Amino acid sequence: DPLAVTAPGPEHLIRAEIRELSAYPVPSARGLIKLDAMENPYEWPPSLRNAWAETLSRLPVNRYPDPKGTELVTRLRTVMGVPGEAALLLGNGSDELIQILLMAVSGPGRVVMAPEPGFVMYRMVARWLGLEFVGIPLKPDFSLDMPAMLAALERHRPAVTFLAWPNNPTGNLWPRAEMETLIRAAPGLVVVDEAYGPFARDSFLPDVGKDSRLLVMRTVSKLGLAGLRLGYLCGMPAWIEELDKVRLPYNINVLTQAAAEFALAHHGVLDEQAAWIRRDREALFKALAALPGVAPFPSEANFILFRVPPGRGREIFEGIRAGGVLIKDLSGQGGLLADCLRVTVGTPEENTRFLAALEAAL
Ligand code: PMP
Repeated sequence: DPLAVTAPGPEHLIRAEIRELSAYPVPSARGLIKLDAMENPYEWPPSLRNAWAETLSRLPVNRYPDPKGTELVTRLRTVMGVPGEAALLLGNGSDELIQILLMAVSGPGRVVMAPEPGFVMYRMVARWLGLEFVGIPLKPDFSLDMPAMLAALERHRPAVTFLAWPNNPTGNLWPRAEMETLIRAAPGLVVVDEAYGPFARDSFLPDVGKDSRLLVMRTVSKLGLAGLRLGYLCGMPAWIEELDKVRLPYNINVLTQAAAEFALAHHGVLDEQAAWIRRDREALFKALAALPGVAPFPSEANFILFRVPPGRGREIFEGIRAGGVLIKDLSGQGGLLADCLRVTVGTPEENTRFLAALEAAL
């Protein structure tokens, strides 16, 4: 067989730093209440679902999508309140925007920075692209270590600094004044990642344009449209035009463009659901705080990070899963996240089921 020659295996071709990685883990939630990934637990009202399906059924899927997503961009601008002078870049989830951004700046000696614990994709994508990643530890209460952040900006001169606001997995919103200090001090681009913006009391979206290096990244995922895969990056046109050059053509498919446009035209439904989630987050926080040995951290997102008794993180996570609820176990990461688990705010019934499973596991 002419093809049966000894070909070099992955160890000869795949870079060592890639071979050392694990693919992004997504555990199965079959048969479980899914509170692990910060999804919105609510469905759409049946009447709207039908109208939505009808809209999608008329789409010409034999044609490529609008490469710029013109109508969707227009809708996003008005619904989300994007400043007039700012431009938008659409991504297949904000994950893709992180990739686009880092591809555009990657090169020898280029550094990416973010506080840690933070969103893992910043570090992952930097690694894929051979960029150096500098993670600056938060303080034990998950506040920013401002002297350390400022010193690192000066020393490493990062091309891109990510500030997730609210932060994942900690859920807190750092003071605006500290954010502004960092944006001013950064030598490169600053991405304020507002994935959890719908659940927080403040946003930098209206500030885009005040400092030309400020980019605000958002997603429709946490809002209730995670399955569509749509994120948007908002910044001054000079930056967005450059980043657009490393975007693959047609990255937002026909179905996503039309489905998101429809959903945003009825955004009152999503806004109402976000309000329920914010309300139920407070109830869930109080219930967690009342459990002996459990310490929740204040959250402005649609999830709550909480600490369990020392050394029992994995066991309690498994116990909750055995009780029918999937959350996220971060306890294995140690450091500031030692003994920490993270739960997404679900429906009131789901939250009750989770609390019962947690209590049983304790
Ligand atoms: N940023 C942060 C801080 C996140 O937590 C997430 C999702 N976990 C994302 C971005 C990515 O979201 P998506 O790709 O669904 O838009």
